[in-house]
Amino acid sequence: MTIILSTLNARYTHASLGLRYLLANMGDLQAQARIQEFVIGAKTTEIVEKLLAGKPRVIGFGIYIWNVEETTRVVAMLKRVAPGVVIVLGGPEVSHESAKQQIVQLADYLVTGWGDVTFPRLCGEILNGPKPLMKIHAGVQPPMADIKLPYSLYSDDDVAHRTLYVEASRGCPFKCEFCLSALDKTAWPFALDTFLAELESLHARGARLFKFVDRTFNLNIKTSLKIMQFFLDKLAANPDDPVYAHFELVPDHLPDALKEGIAKFPPGALQFEIGIQSFNPEVQMLVSRRQDNAKAAENIRWLCEHSHAHLHVDLIAGLPGEDVVSFARGFDQLVALGPHEVQFGILKRLRGTPIIRHTEEYGMVFDPYPPYTILATRDIDFGTMLRLVRFARYWDLVANSGRFVNTIAQMLGDAPFNNFMAFSDWIYSKTDATHRIALERLASLVGQWLQVGGMDEAAATALVASDYAGRVDAKPMKAGPAAAAPQRQVRHLAA
Ligand code: SF4
Repeated sequence: MTIILSTLNARYTHASLGLRYLLANMGDLQAQARIQEFVIGAKTTEIVEKLLAGKPRVIGFGIYIWNVEETTRVVAMLKRVAPGVVIVLGGPEVSHESAKQQIVQLADYLVTGWGDVTFPRLCGEILNGPKPLMKIHAGVQPPMADIKLPYSLYSDDDVAHRTLYVEASRGCPFKCEFCLSALDKTAWPFALDTFLAELESLHARGARLFKFVDRTFNLNIKTSLKIMQFFLDKLAANPDDPVYAHFELVPDHLPDALKEGIAKFPPGALQFEIGIQSFNPEVQMLVSRRQDNAKAAENIRWLCEHSHAHLHVDLIAGLPGEDVVSFARGFDQLVALGPHEVQFGILKRLRGTPIIRHTEEYGMVFDPYPPYTILATRDIDFGTMLRLVRFARYWDLVANSGRFVNTIAQMLGDAPFNNFMAFSDWIYSKTDATHRIALERLASLVGQWLQVGGMDEAAATALVASDYAGRVDAKPMKAGPAAAAPQRQVRHLAA
């Protein structure tokens, strides 16, 4: 095969939408190109061996924050054992501030930004001449109608076993400075009827789980309603074979028409990812995040009380101007609203994001290695930041996992942040670990913690046992949440 399009996905179930876009738009070169995906954690030698088995002349890699280090090793090895194979990079992790990146130095060419038309053009020049003079090619953004949709390239295996990512639009009109989409300036929709026809054929092929990567599903309400109606029609026609759709929402924009549509979805059919990030107005102003907090809270409460949608709501710790007290206040406020999950993320300094302008004034210290996590700020020292990192990890294990549905309310009491932080500090002192804690041991530790708080042994054991018996449901956070998902800040890099 002449051209291989490759990436290292975070998990097997994540089918790369970016690679499928590239293949769909290869034009005359499509017959000479194919996709070859790997999963992070695979051996470098095995990846290189499998890539070279196809005897490619060009390999294009999609580079993301989660795979840049491993792909760097893959490219370094390829350049040693097969120096004649041309390596082209693209993806968000190499689209900004890339000149000094090791992987960029190792590669032959780099396409920054949108690759849909620039990557195929570059491949044509590499294969047929004239040889491209420049190493770095700024991706050209074509009219949306010129981009071929990639959904037919999901294989039957993808449809049967993997998450199908779809997008009705690209870009975001908002400017939150910690997010790469802040650079977009606006959102660009695909032609809706064409897009819905693609969803129709995916559904006809058996697809039932659709994950929308649109930055803000509820920007254009007419479009949102049409997309929701597509799923409502499917649910009405096939109640025994339901579809499941996942959307990202901005929380302060939920007009009545949209609420009406949302309320029609039965349980288990709809999931919303909602970014709050911070409830602190000063922090919001600093990071240029426009958000009506009262409206956002009202809408989250409405969704909890009047819809069956499963709600994941995101907060980010470590933003400029946020100290632990103000973060705790926002956390408690959010828990009180009752979403199924609070996604507690730690700020990452994504390449290209404007948040860097606060570095000096707010004493922001980031890990220089991916995923560039914040280590300290003027308002949160290194030791405290690590306590927050551990809190986030234990929160996933105990709250977001859905394994302690009944116990979590008791643990949180009337001061969720402080109470869970005390648990987090305590369990870390007992285990010296945040990973590889077997479920049985975790349950025993949670039981011990309840006793530290004054509960008698029999009651603590019975409460934990009521969860540990395996009951997992989708009650709101006040009564315990369900399965964990990646953080929104990172997820926004996925497509
Ligand atoms: S955080 Fe969400 S709303 Fe803000 S710029 Fe990013 S995608 Fe847009």
